[in-house]
Amino acid sequence: MRKRLYIPRILFIFLFFLSLPSCNVKPAQQNHYQVCTDEMWEEKAFCTLEECQEEKIWISPNDSTLIFPKFGIENRDLFVQNRDRLKGYFLNPKLVNLIGEVLTICHEIQTQTDKKLNLRFNSLVRSVAYNRRIGGAANSEHLEPVGHAVDIRFSDGKANRYFIQYFYKSVFKKDSTFQRLFEKGCRSFGFYSWGIHFGVRKRKRGSRTFNDEVYAIWDKR
Ligand SMILES: [Zn+2]
Repeated sequence: MRKRLYIPRILFIFLFFLSLPSCNVKPAQQNHYQVCTDEMWEEKAFCTLEECQEEKIWISPNDSTLIFPKFGIENRDLFVQNRDRLKGYFLNPKLVNLIGEVLTICHEIQTQTDKKLNLRFNSLVRSVAYNRRIGGAANSEHLEPVGHAVDIRFSDGKANRYFIQYFYKSVFKKDSTFQRLFEKGCRSFGFYSWGIHFGVRKRKRGSRTFNDEVYAIWDKR
């Protein structure tokens, strides 16, 4: 009796799983993710996850791949742990290049001065809910699904003030440091008492331009 029931039971289990709503449907077929490239952003176009993946870099808290070997920084170092529930996030590749340039400049300053560089990534990508909770701008460059901005700070208070002032002066003078950052796609510079915001989202309007490209500065210290 038991043996006879065995096959129908297997068949029933098989049919049961077949009848479940398909779980292996790729997210791209369910959700349409907004923006990844500047062009898509500007046109307010939508792209599928696959399309976006070609244009962005996935940052996972478990990924120990060296993303900036020169500085010993791993992929996971770019994952900011906070009360947000994100399990990882995408970054615009331009932002990754910009972070590399910021690190290089900071290390150059460190060797030229006695300023101890203890750089921390304060914010990269936030979920919509978390961004709202902490009072972030509704159109923040930090919003998921693709990060377009990084906030950095320096753990030592004295050095923090020095580095903030250094970048602040550079941006206002449009000196070589500013130009290096600009070349890497930096289009927003935000100065706070706790650190600096650098963003790569292309801007359409604004009073500040360099090489016919618009960029933004704000000083909230
Ligand atoms: Zn920011």
